[in-house]
Amino acid sequence: MASLGNPQNTIAVLQKYQFRFQKKFGQNFLIDPHVLEKIIAAAGITREDFVLEIGPGIGTMTQYLCEKAREVLAVEIDQALLPILADTLKEYENVEVRNEDILKVDINQVAREKNDGKPIKVVANLPYYITTPIIMGLFESHVPIDSITVMVQKEVAERMQVGPGTKDYGALSLAVQYYARPEVVANVPPNCFLPRPNVGSAVIRLTRHKKTPVQVENEKLMFQIIRASFNQRRKTLINGLYNSGVLLLSKDELAQVLEKLGLSANIRGEALSLEQFAAFSNLIQEKCSICK
Ligand code: SAM
Repeated sequence: MASLGNPQNTIAVLQKYQFRFQKKFGQNFLIDPHVLEKIIAAAGITREDFVLEIGPGIGTMTQYLCEKAREVLAVEIDQALLPILADTLKEYENVEVRNEDILKVDINQVAREKNDGKPIKVVANLPYYITTPIIMGLFESHVPIDSITVMVQKEVAERMQVGPGTKDYGALSLAVQYYARPEVVANVPPNCFLPRPNVGSAVIRLTRHKKTPVQVENEKLMFQIIRASFNQRRKTLINGLYNSGVLLLSKDELAQVLEKLGLSANIRGEALSLEQFAAFSNLIQEKCSICK
């Protein structure tokens, strides 16, 4: 089977199977070999690696992954792609295709079954409508991860990288940076896909920290605080948290905690760094044995 990563071969496969794109599944297939090579190089895959691919489409990137990795599991939601994948991947013995919704797959179990519970690599040209739940699910369920190398919307890649004081800074930035080191490895214009998406894209590599950059007593509490403070972005941290009902503390008690950290009672959540959210959450944890 000729490499699929160019417009002619992709169109030939789509025509052979009379495939109809499903917008609801975020189907934009890669048709640029340079971009594919960049993703594979950035993921640093070796013959030792087990790779999880989310949304293989017609198998374009899967072919590259099979050439490099020990084993690949490709999870695809669209049943119509299965006969195509059976054809485009028939030369490879180191790949399993599962017809499932990635959000319903127990990836911890996959890591146990396929990689003895050792850290896995995730590589994908993600369906953009579920980028955040996929990435957060991988981190929050403590799947053993070595790295996640993914194509995402350009704006989302920016959100993952920025720090306090920028408009894109938010709960996603803090979560990604708590668990991993983000690096954008390529910007990818719409003409590298079929059909063309309406937005620019970027490949980002998230390398899992061996040790988190801050010490947090109660991760769940810290992320509840973070989410509550960004839900009402224009409000002060105290008002946002108080209105959310996440903590059973008065505004005065919240102000005392901020004061301990040398922060003003009028500060907004968007001004706090990861270190400050961690310190704030640790003090709240100490103070509040009745946190929900
Ligand atoms: N990897 C292919 C490529 O690069 O050409 C296709 C990428 S396309 C942006 C996203 C793929 O994810 C599509 O094949 C789509 O059907 C699949 N997909 C969408 N939602 C999914 C889900 N919840 N679980 C698994 N696959 C999904």
